[in-house]
Amino acid sequence: MVIKDRLLDESDGTVQYVCGNPQCGHIAIPDHKAGSLRCATCGNTSSIYPVEMSYSFKLLLDELVSLGVIMRLQLEDMK
Ligand SMILES: [Zn+2]
Repeated sequence: MVIKDRLLDESDGTVQYVCGNPQCGHIAIPDHKAGSLRCATCGNTSSIYPVEMSYSFKLLLDELVSLGVIMRLQLEDMK
């Protein structure tokens, strides 16, 4: 809990919306026409979940995308 507090909550924590489709797992984007969130890869609009992550991890995802490497985030229920 101390590590989570220091490195995420009191540092650069951010919330990103991730597609819950098990075959997808990409970051969702806002759909301004529909006023909701949409996965740009699979078109999913129903199972988009907020995921708390550090902003440096989001930057890593963006840097890898710029290199042509797509990371899929597999979501599971919290225990
Ligand atoms: Zn998707």
